[in-house]
Amino acid sequence: MNVTELEGFKVHISKGKCLVNPENITIEAWSTEELNSIIEVLAMILPPLKVNYAKEWRCVTLREFEKLISIYSSGKITFCAKDLEEAKLILNYVKFLIEKAKKEYMENGPPEEKELELKKKLTVLELYKCLPKTNCGLCGQPTCIALADKILRGEASLNDCKPLKDPKNTYLVEKLRERFGERILKSLGWY
Ligand code: SF4
Repeated sequence: MNVTELEGFKVHISKGKCLVNPENITIEAWSTEELNSIIEVLAMILPPLKVNYAKEWRCVTLREFEKLISIYSSGKITFCAKDLEEAKLILNYVKFLIEKAKKEYMENGPPEEKELELKKKLTVLELYKCLPKTNCGLCGQPTCIALADKILRGEASLNDCKPLKDPKNTYLVEKLRERFGERILKSLGWY
């Protein structure tokens, strides 16, 4: 197998294997380190609809750059890209995520299984129930439920809801914290 180096990863590039577009190149890359200890953290730090964690494969699949990027605990990373430039962009993004997950792991350790489950099952409606529900539009969305949807997709953050920072809404933040926990709030962009 022809292996080269790209953005600090060992990479094998093949053509004609992408099911979506046969013109794409398929990348199989290997991180220089195993990702065993941080694989669940990777699943935890991203918004729920942006990531899927397959426990049996110990594999995290993310949606980014309109692509599916799979990261395995062994350190293997697979995705399709239109060219080498896009592959580099994606690998740099993966590198950024790995560093972020390592930092999170150092600070808080691995997530508990119940946290991962809770995050996986989090719905737009559940999140909406913890927002102010005034549809004031200050977040740039026409309604609170629209913001809740964008947050779960990773297209907006909880922090965009300024009224949530109003002391009169502290009870809602407490509700969010109680319902989902600090780590999930962080993955929804609360800071
Ligand atoms: S800023 Fe907050 S309260 Fe206002 S519409 Fe957006 S989510 Fe609702």
